[in-house]
Amino acid sequence: MTYDNTPAFAYELDEQDPLRVFRSQFHFPKRNGKDAIYFCGNSLGLQPKVTESYIQRELDYWKEHAVEGHFTGNTPWVSYHQLSKKSLSRLTGGLEHEVVSMNNLTTNLHLLLASFYQPSGKRVKLMIEGGAFPSDHYAAESHMRRVGISPEEHLITLTPESGKTFTNEEIISAIKDQGEELALVLFPGVQYYTGQFFDMKAIAQAAHEVGSFAGFDLAHAMGNLPMTLHDDDIDFATWCSYKYVNSGPGGMSGIFVHEKHGNNPNFPKLTGWWGHDSKTRFQMDNQFVPNPGVDGWMLSNMNIISSAAHLASLSIFDKTSMEELREKSIKLTGFLEYLLLNDPITAKHIEILTPSNPEERGCQLSIFIDQNGKAIFDGLIDAGVILDWREPNVIRVAPTPLYNSFTDVWRFCGIFKQLIVKHAEK
Ligand SMILES: *Cc1c(COP(=O)(O)O)cnc(C)c1O
Repeated sequence: MTYDNTPAFAYELDEQDPLRVFRSQFHFPKRNGKDAIYFCGNSLGLQPKVTESYIQRELDYWKEHAVEGHFTGNTPWVSYHQLSKKSLSRLTGGLEHEVVSMNNLTTNLHLLLASFYQPSGKRVKLMIEGGAFPSDHYAAESHMRRVGISPEEHLITLTPESGKTFTNEEIISAIKDQGEELALVLFPGVQYYTGQFFDMKAIAQAAHEVGSFAGFDLAHAMGNLPMTLHDDDIDFATWCSYKYVNSGPGGMSGIFVHEKHGNNPNFPKLTGWWGHDSKTRFQMDNQFVPNPGVDGWMLSNMNIISSAAHLASLSIFDKTSMEELREKSIKLTGFLEYLLLNDPITAKHIEILTPSNPEERGCQLSIFIDQNGKAIFDGLIDAGVILDWREPNVIRVAPTPLYNSFTDVWRFCGIFKQLIVKHAEK
């Protein structure tokens, strides 16, 4: 696609955008009396306007029916987790009995590590990505320590040979090098710092070839890119819903467990009463019989208020598709990249850390600024642009296809350039 650096061009793209109707369905924070330019959906997605009514409905039901709400009404709480399955299946490419919404991300990562990190004999190594989000790193380490395996010796933290982003080949060959010593590969779908999107299918295939499991943290992939977890033969995955899925701070996480494991009632797992076969759960006889599929991993009755916010947000995703969102996203992020790199002043002071190949990224661009990055970032915030800062000198800009416009991107680049002139062009 060819772009043009004019406001009229951005306006024209917005006019032609079939998804532009969604923008007005979100609450934008105000800055200087106007809607902020919000590029922080990779950290906390905006509040959909329908969220309030979804939560209010459950508050009212609780107020009027109390405990009877578990089994009565249009959305009985006892089976509330069923309500999100269709949408989660569309977002992940998992089958409905492979996906369930529950808990929070790090909690779920622990549950999945308890199931899928099964060291035995020589097969003890756990491979993660060297720049992994700290929570993922801590979780992995703690599972090794708990079973007496030294992370210093057996946790492999893979870093890119280029010092920047990975090539697919180097990940695959690192997996093959570990051979029969590898128990588990835990990788992100999208790397939170660089925005790199990995070839999950190829990683899982390489892991399987050496007899290892492969699981993914989809915190930055969910709602950002289409995925095909079932077809890609991914063993497990987890995500959060407060980033691109707009379900509110600390909102519901979810997990995917491939049916080849989910349908095995003897697959190891940490268990709770909500994972017990729902038909006999209330017989309370202490003989654990798992629900079929991923629902065997549930522990507790659901957080209904948080789940209501989740359903509200998913109802918006149900009106479009990840394919449509992706089509816009590629254009929107491509426009951002074009404006940044085709302006000689901006281009001179930045480096985009995110891969330039759209197949290897979602919507986020991570931008390294050569000097006075923090002053530029502070200037952006003052000008009503909300985005995030990462040490040492990086801003992450995430134009999301659901609620961002081409005009947002164009305006951002103009403000950014002025701040570069002020703080970096000395
Ligand atoms: C956002 C994020 C988390 C956050 O974990 P919570 O348990 O939801 O607080 C964890 N891992 C990754 C990769 C993330 O991007």
